Amino acid sequence: MCIFCKIVNGEIPNNTVHESDHFLAFHDLYPKAPIHILIIPKQHVDCFQDVSPEMMADMTPFIQEVATKVGIDKTGYRLITNNGDDGGQEIKHLHFHMLGGGKLIWNHQ
Ligand code: ADP
Repeated sequence: MCIFCKIVNGEIPNNTVHESDHFLAFHDLYPKAPIHILIIPKQHVDCFQDVSPEMMADMTPFIQEVATKVGIDKTGYRLITNNGDDGGQEIKHLHFHMLGGGKLIWNHQ
């Protein structure tokens, strides 16, 4: 079972920000910005390339709710998903990084 599935089923603790029946948002253990949240579907999907349009349609308002809940919906944030090996995806369970809480620098690498 992957590490994020273990977080979903409670085997590994997490610092939850927001939760619904289908999605979970929690603080990244090694934050790369003042606010760094990971947003995942509870159902295992390997990566963005495999996600269904239906799941993305459901996930979109959840992601927006997370931003509102932590107060960065107006100030702005960056939403990233690393897809596959070349994309730098270490954990093969679809997740979006939400980065914010300050002006971000764009890193092309
Ligand atoms: P990368 O490590 O290159 O960012 P990913 O896009 O797969 O690759 O991101 C995995 C993210 O999961 C990393 O930002 C990492 O800090 C985070 N992480 C790893 N283990 C945990 C954990 N137990 N709880 C919260 N975040 C975690």
